[in-house]
Amino acid sequence: MSKPLNRVAVIGTGTLGTQIALIAAHSGYQVKIYDVCEGAFKETLKTLRSDLQAKGKEPFVPWDRWDACQAAIQELTDLGEAVKEAELVVEAVLEDLELKRQVFAELGRKAPPEAILATNSSSMPVSRMEESSGRPEKCLNIHFYLILAGMNMADVMGGTCTSPEVIEKGIAWVRSLGCIPLTVKKELLGFCFNRIWRAIKREALYMWSNGFVDFRDVDRGWMVFTGMEAGPFALMDKVGLDVIYDIEMVYYRDSNDPKDKPPDALLEMVKRGDLGVKSGKGFYTYPDPEFTRPDFMTNT
Ligand code: NAD
Repeated sequence: MSKPLNRVAVIGTGTLGTQIALIAAHSGYQVKIYDVCEGAFKETLKTLRSDLQAKGKEPFVPWDRWDACQAAIQELTDLGEAVKEAELVVEAVLEDLELKRQVFAELGRKAPPEAILATNSSSMPVSRMEESSGRPEKCLNIHFYLILAGMNMADVMGGTCTSPEVIEKGIAWVRSLGCIPLTVKKELLGFCFNRIWRAIKREALYMWSNGFVDFRDVDRGWMVFTGMEAGPFALMDKVGLDVIYDIEMVYYRDSNDPKDKPPDALLEMVKRGDLGVKSGKGFYTYPDPEFTRPDFMTNT
């Protein structure tokens, strides 16, 4: 696959930034990274390695490429140094609008004027941060999923005045990584696939919180229908129920539609500290949730 550019910088190397850097290096890009927290990249890589090893599957970047990719990635302790030669900068700092605006402002000052600035935000359209960069026509959303675990796709969406060439380059870059671009033609909160996943979550939560169904049956149905190893409730546990609640609130605040309000029963779980996998209890109990047991599907 031909490369639309050569030099990429990734800002913020937590769960997503680390994966983006690794896959970009694997695809032959010169990759520079920066994180306010020194050592974040190595730490996250270690966590990702053990999570993926526990799954027992070959990750999207094969194991025998990890060391070479890691060695090829240049870690800088100064943002300006990391971006000074970049043709594309991908921002993957925390999901905080003010922080992203600050980072976009700094990138606007420090990245070469022709560099494209992408945000990996999972909920915010780039139009909410593009202005601070001083180059809104070069800004776009490129929202990756959990690539290493095999979710090799990314939503691509422009802002208020993103140039068509920038969108095209973003799409070509995603393709060159072996990922599938999901293009959003007009600004839409939640982008493409995230919004589908969100509709499933909303419906599942509605049926459960109003006592229509047992959440396990929703998961059983989903597992049969899709062939996946986990259903919507198990997946929500994995993401974290506090995060799920916050995301649902983003949609609710945007629409003001009472149907979009996350159920009180979910908020109660969050207040109790039942946050899912990370707290040991959510809809299921961990580390041995019942949906992984052989008799789960037969419900016997
Ligand atoms: P994370 O908490 O794992 O990592 C964020 C990193 O940003 C941390 O290492 C932190 O030290 C760093 N950081 C904070 N402020 C910074 C700054 N000013 N400059 C440089 N680095 C800074 O978060 P994550 O899960 O990787 O999420 C990052 C972004 O990706 C968010 O916008 C999130 O919405 C999005 N996203 C996350 C997922 C997911 O499943 N985790 C999926 C898709 C998109």
